[in-house]
Amino acid sequence: MLPPPPPGDVPALEGRGLVKHFGGVKAVDGVDISVGSGTVHGIIGPNGSGKSTTVSCLTRFHQVDDGEVLVFGETAARHPWAVPSQGVIRVFQIPHLFEQQSVLDNVLTGRRRRESYGWLAAVLRLPAYRRQDRAGRAEGRALLEFAGLAGRADRLAGSLSHGQKRLLEVVRAAASGPRVLILDEPATGLTRTEIAALARLCRGFRDAGLAVVLIEHNVEFVMDVCDQITVIDSGTVIASGAPDHVRGHPAVLEAYLGRPDLVEEATP
Ligand code: ADP
Ligand code: MG
Repeated sequence: MLPPPPPGDVPALEGRGLVKHFGGVKAVDGVDISVGSGTVHGIIGPNGSGKSTTVSCLTRFHQVDDGEVLVFGETAARHPWAVPSQGVIRVFQIPHLFEQQSVLDNVLTGRRRRESYGWLAAVLRLPAYRRQDRAGRAEGRALLEFAGLAGRADRLAGSLSHGQKRLLEVVRAAASGPRVLILDEPATGLTRTEIAALARLCRGFRDAGLAVVLIEHNVEFVMDVCDQITVIDSGTVIASGAPDHVRGHPAVLEAYLGRPDLVEEATP
């Protein structure tokens, strides 16, 4: 379904000593994070703790004040527009779908990023185009089925519910063939059934060898689906490791108990 990751144990995405200050605000203050291929890695922490800024540093949306970003062991591209060509795709919170196109066609727009026929082959409907088009549609339908959207493939994307749109956005990003898929609060506003579909997708991507990064408020979902979790508070990492390790960590309990806002947000 997706291209295999390169061999070896090199982390797919790594931040070393990341620092990003906004004036006097130490949004990110020395964060280390390492995300392996074939894992789902959660980033959690109270509101304003620096999760989104960390990811913006990793994807070069922000230039760091200090630290390094590595993609498969190599220095990440300097510019945010070059990062996707290294296989790192971030899905933002607000869906940007083609609402007047079918759900399946939206998935295919993701896939077109990695197709290899020329525009002339497409215009002339040459065999190379037709072959890839057929393969793309089959893969797109399989992905949609996985996301619980099979029955909607031929409807307009604009007719989907909020949660279905968000799932479609994730499917479309996956269809573009990334090696690292970053999801910014994907569970927000999803029903329980949709959250279950999202979990299925995340595990499926992981099993296909992707590195999945989840920034998430829904702690129950994160604990359920992640292999590794990095907990950030006030711009620094206060704990990292497997869910069971992180769940009982004193610094994590303190960060949560001291922040009723987070406990509330953590309730799905
Ligand atoms: P989180 O995603 O964990 O909620 P953020 O990374 O969005 O946290 O924010 C961390 C801190 O940095 C907050 O205090 C926030 O107000 C501040 N911050 C984030 N982005 C900017 C910005 N572009 N300019 C100034 N301050 C910012
Ligand atoms: Mg945020």
